[in-house]
Amino acid sequence: MKFSTKAIHAGQEPDPSTGAIMTPIFQTATYAQAGLGEHKGFEYSRTQNPTRNALQECMAALEDGRYGLAFASGMAAETAILSLLSAGDHIVSCDDLYGGSYRIFERVMRRYNVETTYVATGNIAAYEQAIRPNTKMIWLETPTNPLLRLVDIQAVAEIAHRHHLLVVVDNTFASPYFQQPLKLGADIVVHSTTKYLNGHSDVIGGALVLNNEEVSQALQFYQNAAGGVPSPFDAWLTLRGIKTLAVRMRQHEENAMAVAKFLAEHPRVEKIYYPGLPAHPDYELAKRQMSGFGGMVSFQFKGVYADVDKVVRRLKVFTLAESLGGVESLICHPASMTHGSIPKDMRESRGLTDTLLRLSVGIEDVDDLLADLEQALA
Ligand code: PLP
Repeated sequence: MKFSTKAIHAGQEPDPSTGAIMTPIFQTATYAQAGLGEHKGFEYSRTQNPTRNALQECMAALEDGRYGLAFASGMAAETAILSLLSAGDHIVSCDDLYGGSYRIFERVMRRYNVETTYVATGNIAAYEQAIRPNTKMIWLETPTNPLLRLVDIQAVAEIAHRHHLLVVVDNTFASPYFQQPLKLGADIVVHSTTKYLNGHSDVIGGALVLNNEEVSQALQFYQNAAGGVPSPFDAWLTLRGIKTLAVRMRQHEENAMAVAKFLAEHPRVEKIYYPGLPAHPDYELAKRQMSGFGGMVSFQFKGVYADVDKVVRRLKVFTLAESLGGVESLICHPASMTHGSIPKDMRESRGLTDTLLRLSVGIEDVDDLLADLEQALA
């Protein structure tokens, strides 16, 4: 089956008891058992739930993986991956990544004596140089949040596997529509399904997809043991959102390209970050590694912090808000919002300055988006 068909059908059959086309919301905590040990494969909803199963199968199909696991948030999915580590282990990651991932590495995992080394995102040799005898995992985000740098997944996976390390790829920004990291050698793909997968800014969720049976069993064990599972209703909403993923992603990209081109020419824009523009340092890699450039655009505003505030207040279609990947356009100020947990000097050394703005370009009429930016930047 091709991607759009899987997005609509994978894991979902008409309900055998009623013929209902849509997977029912199995809003139940527990399941009747006929006798001791005699049940229909479901005992308790933290462990198994049919609506969640449908989402997990659908997610696995979209990433072309064998196992899918759904969680209550992207961070709960990340925590499940980190549960594979033990005290004294080491992670190598990139230096441009979601602030919440940085926060859990530094504020939680470090307390368990798990250290993370951050290397320059695009520098492949640096990943190998950072490997220590206790390294267990290379954790990538590509494209990165918020500077939209790319990492060559295949090149890093080749290094990691020579050293028997797991490669994790946060695929939230691209979505499986534009990038399938397992095919490039990644071992575990992680998503904040809150974003493009659900696509309507009405659910917090996360998912993992992988091929390795042993690792998948450890993650399933943790999913049940720690219990960070999505509610049946959230699983259902996400399944429903995924059905339109392909058409949404195409429109996000078309609009983002127009917005990026507009901003690239604008006198109040110092620098534009969009991997679909030939001037972007990772443009060639983006063309090779992804089947599209996505809907996220960041830019450095030419001016002072006080003017940044004026611009965001003037916008009428773009809303100032955290998160991304919904049908509506959002603008975010990473330094004070999504990446506020990264120390200022570290942020600035990576280019994440107080004048950086990040757009999640929605699927509204592009003329309205361009007009809104024009009036706000005037
Ligand atoms: N990964 C990336 C790239 C993100 O942008 C986010 C959230 O913004 C997360 C992970 C965490 O996901 P959630 O907010 O669903 O916990």
